[in-house]
Amino acid sequence: MTDDAIVVGAGPNGLAAAVVLARAGVKVTVLERNDTIGGGARTAELTLPGFRHDVCSAVHPMGAVSGFFRRFELDKRIRMITPDVSYAHPLDGGRAGIAYRDLEQTVAGLGVDGPSYRRLLADLVDRDDALAEFSLSALLQVPRHPATIALFGLSMLDQGMPWWNERWRSDLAPSMLAGVMAHAIRPMPSLSASAAGLALAVHAHARGWPLPEGGSQSIVDAMAADVVAHGGTIETGVEVASLDEVGHAQAVVLDVSARSLADIGGERLPGWYSRALRRFRYGNAASKVDFALSEPVPWLNETVRRSPTVHLGGDRAGVALSERQVAQGRHADVPFVLAVQPGTVDPTRAPEGKAVLWTYSHVPRDSDVDQTETITRQIEKYAPGFRDTILASASKTAQELGNYNPNYVGGDIATGAPSVRQLIARPVVDVDPWRTPVPGVYLGSSSAPPGPSVHGLGGAYAARSALRHEFGIHTLPDLSVGA
Ligand SMILES: Cc1cc2nc3c(=O)[nH]c(=O)nc-3n(C[C@H](O)[C@H](O)[C@H](O)COP(=O)(O)OP(=O)(O)OC[C@H]3O[C@@H](n4cnc5c(N)ncnc54)[C@H](O)[C@@H]3O)c2cc1C
Repeated sequence: MTDDAIVVGAGPNGLAAAVVLARAGVKVTVLERNDTIGGGARTAELTLPGFRHDVCSAVHPMGAVSGFFRRFELDKRIRMITPDVSYAHPLDGGRAGIAYRDLEQTVAGLGVDGPSYRRLLADLVDRDDALAEFSLSALLQVPRHPATIALFGLSMLDQGMPWWNERWRSDLAPSMLAGVMAHAIRPMPSLSASAAGLALAVHAHARGWPLPEGGSQSIVDAMAADVVAHGGTIETGVEVASLDEVGHAQAVVLDVSARSLADIGGERLPGWYSRALRRFRYGNAASKVDFALSEPVPWLNETVRRSPTVHLGGDRAGVALSERQVAQGRHADVPFVLAVQPGTVDPTRAPEGKAVLWTYSHVPRDSDVDQTETITRQIEKYAPGFRDTILASASKTAQELGNYNPNYVGGDIATGAPSVRQLIARPVVDVDPWRTPVPGVYLGSSSAPPGPSVHGLGGAYAARSALRHEFGIHTLPDLSVGA
């Protein structure tokens, strides 16, 4: 052991920071305010005994392309299950757009728009690794794959501007793309929604959208085990309110929101930085409902029955309208609903024959409206009889999500709106945005690049910077299983 570091927060980013530091030989302690580790990657019996629900994240396209998880060899530590259907988008009359992992199979199901869908995505699917490397780093850098970035930029413009419907002749393909764009919780068409949606669509046809056996908790448990195996310590039930509590450490990595960093840093932060943190904007929110079901959801469309991820919001115009209403601070008349049925690939989540269903809908930030009935009605449209399968449900409004985890400010699951501006200024414009102006203090959460999702990279980059500047270690340690 050389020296000591403290990581505040045991979410995927905090634990990734701890893995990197511990593997480099630094004595690291992780402090977590909750009684359990995991942050946005926890799994728990939220409804009935034997029904295991993902409390926040459920599906891991960004985990599959994360350089951190590849180096960590996550797939050798836990079973990541990649389905042959990445996501489904039911429409009226039992029709559905199906995004198979196989691009050509998807194209075959899109009728007249198949060739156009292929032209939009095929070259990017072939360049998925380069695309992931670019989008999952700080954007302020010399690009290593300019051709891929140019290609992505053109597709982003094609689907992020008012002419986004020009290339389509039917409703399946554009509705499917609206569904993935809606993940950004941004109005559309917009460049930010287009960027997020296209990246997700490309990953869907390249590496797929995997789910961990046993739930997202398996991911953070594997990371925590590695931290402990390399001499680290994890303490739960410890909330850090000020840098003074952790100032004795040579390096501090904070897995907290930009807003919490401003509070925790207080007077020790220079005024310009503090103001930038306070100016950082939060996006609209998710309101979560988990269901325990007597049987799997009776979707009208047979293929939707075997798709882990399902997007509900109707056609492209319907999805765009609901996202616009939320952007205006209203509850949508017909909200976009994201549903995940992990039992399609992982039987460990519920007693035999029964099922869990994970859902959230988009709502204005800080909403205290329980969405159970709204989401139930939305699912009923595409799966008549769904209501009769419900054994129990558990709801967390946007406001409750924010109380449960202060990183989700007002229910913003991205810990900072993923606008184009805030993808570059996250939370400030800097070649090393993880290093704060306070010596030894680093920000490693989703409020720093590359932003939201379970990929561990914000934490890993913060730890890399800390190793370099505080410990004089310039090469990343080996993170593989045997090392
Ligand atoms: C409902 C929902 C659904 C989602 N679905 C997906 C999905 O399917 N796929 C996906 O990739 N991503 C998803 N996400 C996003 C994903 O969960 C987050 O982007 C990810 O967890 C961010 O990781 P993090 O480590 O930065 O923060 P978090 O996971 O939020 O972890 C932060 C941790 O720090 C702790 N903490 C905060 N402040 C303090 C303090 N002062 N002292 C001590 N501890 C503190 C918190 O308790 C928490 O444990 C979802 C999020 C939500 C809420």
